Amino acid sequence: MVHFVGAGPGGPDLITLRGAELLKQADCVVYAGSLVNPALLGFVREGVPVYNSAHMTLEQVLEVLEQTERAGGNTVRLHTGDPCLYGAVREQMDQLDRRGIPWDVTPGVSSFCGAAAAAGAEYTLPWVSQSVIITRMAGRTPVPEGESIASLAQHGCTMVVFLSAGMLEGLSTELLKGAYTPDTPAALVYKATWPEEKVVRCTVGTLAQAGRDHHISKTALVLVGDFLSHQYQRSLLYHPGFSTEYRTGDGSAEPGGAL
Ligand code: SAH
Repeated sequence: MVHFVGAGPGGPDLITLRGAELLKQADCVVYAGSLVNPALLGFVREGVPVYNSAHMTLEQVLEVLEQTERAGGNTVRLHTGDPCLYGAVREQMDQLDRRGIPWDVTPGVSSFCGAAAAAGAEYTLPWVSQSVIITRMAGRTPVPEGESIASLAQHGCTMVVFLSAGMLEGLSTELLKGAYTPDTPAALVYKATWPEEKVVRCTVGTLAQAGRDHHISKTALVLVGDFLSHQYQRSLLYHPGFSTEYRTGDGSAEPGGAL
């Protein structure tokens, strides 16, 4: 069978225990070489064929998965971060179904989580933002109409922009068509959780300059929103005036309470 495994954002110890175990038992590994840390291949048994899918087409990947299946082996298809985001996994799953080859998925730590960790940030701050938009700029790969950055930016919530570090000028222009201002905080997070990780704090207005100054044009996420500022209010969840299923508060922070 084929195991789709999330490799995590970079740090080799950020793969899940299940993912590492599957790698140890694999009879064949196909990994997304552009972003998966090659250190993870250290889990693979000696003599097991390892393919870098960066140099392969979908057809060639499927051929390898099919061959291993025919020989009665298990393949680990290792994707960067979590396979569910920009992983081109669905087309593989559907083709495997067509061939009657079983598969399953082991999640991974997505780079958007790695980036928050690197920035020491929480995407959902009380009264600041309670939603996270994960998106990308249209580039050589299009984005459906209705999902333009300018339209998504109207919400003014937390935004995590993938695959767009090479288009910072355009990204900044699009963001400014929405609810963000040139002063809205932003950050470029380069290679989160890798040894060469960099967090560059800037604003929506200075994104492109920040990219130029720090030579960041790929393998980065752009974080946008007021969650990066220092203004927020404490949560109700842990407020002494707020009751939850597990704790009784004094009511002062409940609707109609003293606060
Ligand atoms: N499935 C992956 C995303 C793959 S798309 C995930 O869950 O993270 C590839 C894009 O992800 C890159 O262009 C970059 O925008 C982002 N990315 C992947 N790893 C990253 C990392 N360690 N730090 C910052 N951005 C990263």
